[in-house]
Amino acid sequence: MSSPVAAACTAVAKRSGPRLASLSCRLCGAPSDPSPVAVCEHCLGPLEPVYDPARRLPTRAEIEARPRSIWRYREWLPILDAPVVSEDTGFTPLLDAPALARALGVRRALVKNDAVSHPSCSFKDRVVAVALNAAVGLGLDTVGCASTGNLANSVAAQAARAGLAAWIFVPEDLEVGKIVGTAIYGPRLVRVKGTYDDVNRLCAQVADRFGWGLVNLNLRGYYGEGSKTMAHEIGEQLGWRTPDAVIAPMAGGSLLTKLDKGFRELRTAGLLDGAAPRMYGAQAAGCAPIVNLVASGGEKIEPVQPRTIARSIAIGNPADGRFAAKAIRTSGGGAAAVTDEELVAGIRLLAETTGVFGETAAGVTVAAALKLAREGQLRPTDELVLCITGNGLKTVEAVLPALPEAPVVAGKLREVAALVEASR
Ligand SMILES: *Cc1c(COP(=O)(O)O)cnc(C)c1O
Ligand SMILES: [Zn+2]
Repeated sequence: MSSPVAAACTAVAKRSGPRLASLSCRLCGAPSDPSPVAVCEHCLGPLEPVYDPARRLPTRAEIEARPRSIWRYREWLPILDAPVVSEDTGFTPLLDAPALARALGVRRALVKNDAVSHPSCSFKDRVVAVALNAAVGLGLDTVGCASTGNLANSVAAQAARAGLAAWIFVPEDLEVGKIVGTAIYGPRLVRVKGTYDDVNRLCAQVADRFGWGLVNLNLRGYYGEGSKTMAHEIGEQLGWRTPDAVIAPMAGGSLLTKLDKGFRELRTAGLLDGAAPRMYGAQAAGCAPIVNLVASGGEKIEPVQPRTIARSIAIGNPADGRFAAKAIRTSGGGAAAVTDEELVAGIRLLAETTGVFGETAAGVTVAAALKLAREGQLRPTDELVLCITGNGLKTVEAVLPALPEAPVVAGKLREVAALVEASR
């Protein structure tokens, strides 16, 4: 307890929640005590937790003996004591997908299936689990978010269980599955006229005015770290080694950035064998500011006006876009954007080859992988992990028009026999 990091944290120890790591600015390095603050007060850069480099790290065997949740990697998470809420999120399946590998023309494909994440069926459960523990650690009793849908579901579900009040802001015209999948938990749900970027701007003001913990705004420094656990799990589930390549959908660009960080951390700790994976990012063509940045080789995101059915990743001005582009470039990966038609085909290909029903972002990921494979960016020798981040039952309207209509029969054997005959 004598390290500078631990000392900086004693300020919050008198509260009932867990102690938190302090923060520092990713751009200028300025430190900041644990607090609900969105950006660096000096340069407006993003904040990241500081981990005590002298902390004791677990062995592979120690991690394997822990409960199957994100908290088995707690030494790389900014919650310094045992979590007090959302203790059981994480450790989703990693599935071998040989038929998908054949379709892609790669040696091996694996699906990291966060479509079955607990409790709300998207990878956002990881980031929210960390953010709500941070909220409790900071003594906040009201949480919230600006969301494209999945984050709303996850904050509402986890806040309900934790007994925290929740104020949730979404674009007015979100899919019905995302609205119902939020409202059911009894939060205050507010639909905002405009795009996600309008919602986000409003919420920055809301956070300041009411002193709430908005998980992806003033708790973002803590929140983002939860995404790393997807990389940690992939490494462990592969037998403590890295894959050749990883592809993930990009909205604000946080997930991709943190996947890259997660692999690097466990490799640095000597827990993962193999080279750093090449990172590939996927976006919908109707909202591809990060893919555009990768293509242009520039430094600054050019915001776009989103036009795509992939609502969950439709962020026109991505907060971590430049960091995602940097992770893609430095890892030797790439990026691709796909049309709405291609993403629908991607959802169907994933379902028909793996038995996993992903949402629109999953369709974007699979379709982008196909495109990158055709371009030769993904290679025949590659072992590729596809990050499937959300559940298809939340976005059924995307695929409904594409599916064949099911025939209706009377309850008579001969009518079925006729169908069987016609199918031959
Ligand atoms: C939020 C989200 C992402 C990516 O989010 P980032 O903002 O890039 O971290 C990917 N897939 C789904 C389904 C999401 O909801
Ligand atoms: Zn700064």
